[in-house]
Amino acid sequence: MREIRHPSRGELLDEALILRFDAPASATAENIVEFQCHGGRAVVDAVLAALGEIKGVREAQPGEFTRRAFENGRIDLTEAEGLADLIEAETESQRKAALALAEGGLKKQIAAWQDRVLAFSAMAERAIDYDEHDIAVDAAFQRDCGVLASELQQWLKRPRAEPLKHGVRIVVAGPPNAGKSSLINAIAGEDRVIVTDIPGTTRDHVEVPLSLGGVPILLTDTAGLRETSDRVEAIGVERAERLTELADILLWLGAPEDAPPHRCLVQIHAKADLPARATARAGSRMVSAVTGAGLAELLQVVENAARAVLPAEDAIALNRRQSQYLEEAERAVSSAAASTDWLLIAEDLRAARTAFDRLTGRAGVDDMLDALFGRFCLGK
Ligand code: GDP
Repeated sequence: MREIRHPSRGELLDEALILRFDAPASATAENIVEFQCHGGRAVVDAVLAALGEIKGVREAQPGEFTRRAFENGRIDLTEAEGLADLIEAETESQRKAALALAEGGLKKQIAAWQDRVLAFSAMAERAIDYDEHDIAVDAAFQRDCGVLASELQQWLKRPRAEPLKHGVRIVVAGPPNAGKSSLINAIAGEDRVIVTDIPGTTRDHVEVPLSLGGVPILLTDTAGLRETSDRVEAIGVERAERLTELADILLWLGAPEDAPPHRCLVQIHAKADLPARATARAGSRMVSAVTGAGLAELLQVVENAARAVLPAEDAIALNRRQSQYLEEAERAVSSAAASTDWLLIAEDLRAARTAFDRLTGRAGVDDMLDALFGRFCLGK
């Protein structure tokens, strides 16, 4: 315990535990002093006011400590992203995933990949230094490069981080009047979406957050996916096409032959209660929003598909930024694995190293730093 006294008046403000962390063995790799004061608001305010009177002392910006830790090389960008996620985590699964990232799980994996790419690069550069025609690209080199490429492909196939944060995005799409809003209402069990028989009235998309057997879901209605000359609706249609790309699961209410290509498509034969629609094509699920027939089965299918989209507990799940750079690295390594020209291989491997550097924040990410560190609260 130490006495904390006002710097000019000498007045006793508190008795507190003072911890000194010498650089570089501190959270930011700089010299740090931590005051553990008594918790009352008045004590903290008095100490902060007294500190404010010392020349050169100011309050930290939101995220400033984490940013300094990043800029001083104490943590990499993936760990900083993990810390931001950890602060924002609201569920136990979100907390575990954030912690895995913040503890450097992805950082270590990237370092291991970088080592392998560096070893390949060294071989390529050596071959170029000699006369590249003297050393042919051998099958063993191509095989090793290919093994790394397929490892990266496996990582890219893993469940992503976003569904864990925002819910698994289920997009309900199909032509106007197909019964999308009615189906959403039937699923949500409430009238949040306007149901109408005038085609194209749902101009924008409507999101309904739900929990399906404990799985967080974001159910999304879209304006009809079709060519249109109507300007207002055209914006909605463009957005609908983007949403279809964003969809983790796509429920398609149109004709099967018109279904947009999608990795997880559920074909629905809606309004199955109508006599004219009494028979469905093979592969389509018959559902009626009016009678509720087929709804429970559909929800079970959706729940199972949604569960598969969520990352496993404790597993590292890549966010959009991370997977984008990992894709870049994968493309470069795959290209190197398929090449027989050392010069081109060396160039590909350089591109792969740059992509990994962007992933860890060692290169070219200035534009996203403010956005990331702005997510932190004061004092972090
Ligand atoms: P959306 O434009 O695709 O959102 O279609 P809506 O949900 O607005 O439905 C268009 C029309 O079809 C409305 O008049 C609904 O009442 C009707 N409809 C929707 N689902 C069903 C259903 O399962 N059975 C019957 N009989 N009518 C339905």
